[in-house]
Amino acid sequence: MIKAVIFDADGTLWKGDSFMMRPPFEKISEYMVKDERDREIILFEGTRELLDFLTKKKIFVGLASQNFFDTIFEIMNLLEIQHYFTEDIVLVDWASKIMMFDKILASDFLLKNNIEPDNIVFVDDNESENLIPVKKKYPSIKTILAKENLSHIKEIRELIE
Ligand SMILES: [Mg+2]
Repeated sequence: MIKAVIFDADGTLWKGDSFMMRPPFEKISEYMVKDERDREIILFEGTRELLDFLTKKKIFVGLASQNFFDTIFEIMNLLEIQHYFTEDIVLVDWASKIMMFDKILASDFLLKNNIEPDNIVFVDDNESENLIPVKKKYPSIKTILAKENLSHIKEIRELIE
């Protein structure tokens, strides 16, 4: 049974490299944020619907992103998706994804909610640097590769339905 889905940000929730972006940020539409140099973040079609679907199914949504916390926080605010995420399992820093999962798996939040590694799905667009190492250390975590064709969105829904 899936109880939590942990997402990477860039290339997984949206198209664009948020770590390259510098404030001030501007909301162009409910799917797009630009920075001072017109660098863009475009929310993937289906991301908002997926987050909504997971929340309605009472599945916790987390984030594991190698990034600047303030940038991620502001982009998520402007795209109005921040409320889907559970603060206790939102990790934004420059640690490796393995270290982020070490932290998440040792957290009181998981203990309190009785979440084991095999109840967790990790979604990321970088297979070699992120998915494979995390899977190697925690084989019971389910990993899904995020792709531009958005097949991962379908895959996650199928796992849960
Ligand atoms: Mg990524």
